Amino acid sequence: MLTRNELRKKARELLKELHLTGGFNCSEFVEKLREKRSYKIKLEPIPMPPGYFGFWSLVGDCHVILYRANTSWLHQQQIVFHECGHILLDHHPGDLKKFLQRKAIYSKPEEREAETFATILLEAAIVHDTAQEGISVGKNLAPAQTPSDEHLEEVISMQEFLMELKKKVAPLTLGAEDE
Ligand SMILES: [Zn+2]
Repeated sequence: MLTRNELRKKARELLKELHLTGGFNCSEFVEKLREKRSYKIKLEPIPMPPGYFGFWSLVGDCHVILYRANTSWLHQQQIVFHECGHILLDHHPGDLKKFLQRKAIYSKPEEREAETFATILLEAAIVHDTAQEGISVGKNLAPAQTPSDEHLEEVISMQEFLMELKKKVAPLTLGAEDE
């Protein structure tokens, strides 16, 4: 298990490699991973039932990250950075069946690593812009992407979630049903 300092060092080196110096969001971060590290990564926002936040797995050689659509923009950043943490820290791809049954996919130390890594990235992503008022987050600022309050509080049933999953990420769903 990596210490916080080791994770910090890893994140710093990665951001340097990706030419990200602060003031970026998770989409820009993922775009840089595609560009500089030739990762195939698909980000898929999906409205999720209570208690579901994010998931990463591989479909062929493509990393698919599902993240909760019905939550705040900032929370989404944390979720995507967290799932990227699992990828970049060489954890194993998630099992959709386990995810749907809310069974633990990773060990507690792995979860802590991914979460710490995500927080470090989020801290780097959000820079205090003294010229403007308060916080600035990259070029694609938050408000345009922030779901409406109504959407934030949207309660999704498991059935609706599964239907949406099938529509959006059929290969993943099929993979889980194969077993
Ligand atoms: Zn996790």
